[in-house]
Amino acid sequence: MKWIKGDFLHAGKAKDVYAVKNHSELVWMEFKDNLTAFNGKKKSSFKGKGQVNRDISSLVFRFLKKEKINNHWVADINDTGMICQKIKVVPLEVVVRNRLAGSTAKKFQISEGQSLSKSLVEFYYKKDELGDPFISSEQAIAFGFVSTKSEIEFLKEKALQVNEKLKYFFDAIGLELIDFKLEFGKGEDLKNQGNKPDEEGFLLGDEISCDSCRLWDKKTGEKKDKDRFRLDLGGVEESYRKVLECLEQKWIQEIKI
Ligand code: UDP
Repeated sequence: MKWIKGDFLHAGKAKDVYAVKNHSELVWMEFKDNLTAFNGKKKSSFKGKGQVNRDISSLVFRFLKKEKINNHWVADINDTGMICQKIKVVPLEVVVRNRLAGSTAKKFQISEGQSLSKSLVEFYYKKDELGDPFISSEQAIAFGFVSTKSEIEFLKEKALQVNEKLKYFFDAIGLELIDFKLEFGKGEDLKNQGNKPDEEGFLLGDEISCDSCRLWDKKTGEKKDKDRFRLDLGGVEESYRKVLECLEQKWIQEIKI
C-alpha cells in the first residue's frame, strides 16, 4: 500500500503527526530523534533515535495485536514513520507499576525497586504545563476526561492485561518491566484496517518504547531505559539499540504481521 503524507497536524515532543492523503481515518506518525525528560525540561537527541523508537514500538504493537490487544498500529513506513488509526486521545496517562521506581519511590521515600504485592494502575492528567499531575479515578470522571466509572474500570483492566503481555515480551530478552505508561483514544471511524476498538470504544495508541517503559536487566538490575538519560548514566543510545536488537532477534520471526 502506498501511503502519501498529508497536512501537518500536530507537533509532539518525540513525534510529529500528519494526515494521510485520502484516508481520513488514519494518521502518519513521524518519530523524531529528540529525547526529552521531566515534561520537556531536559532535552537531548541522538541520530537514529526516531528509527529505534519506531521499530521498538512497532514490534510491541504487532506483538500485542497478535495477542488480541487491539491498538492503533496499521503499518510502518520509511525509517521513522508509522501509519496509525486516527484516535482522539483521552488526556490521561495510564501508568502501570510492578515495582516502585522514579519520582514515586522518591515521593514516598521508599527504596527504588521495592516490589508491589499487586501491580498498580494510576492515572495522570496529560498536561505538560502542570507537570502531568496525579488524578484520581473520581476526578477523571468528574472533570469529564472519561464519562463513566465503567470506562475507568475498563482502562484499568486493559492496562493490566497489557502489563501481563509486556512482562512476558521483555522477560524473553532478559529484561524486567518495572513500570510503563499507556495512552488510549477513541476513534471516529475505527471500522477499517482491522483496528477494532474495545467494548468501551477505546483503542490503545501513542508509543511503547524505552522512552515510556522502565526496563531493568533481570540479572544485574542495570537500567536500560530513559532513566539512563534522566539520571545522566550515559550509554543511552547503546542501550536503546541493544534493546531493539534483542527484541528483533527474539520476536521478529514470531510476530510477522
Ligand atoms: N512515563 C512516560 N511519560 C510521562 C510520565 C511517565 O512515558 O509523561 C513513563 C515513565 O517512563 C515510567 C512510567 O511512565 O516508565 C512511570 O513514570 P513515573 O510516574 O514513575 O514518573 P517519573 O518517575 O518518570 O517522574
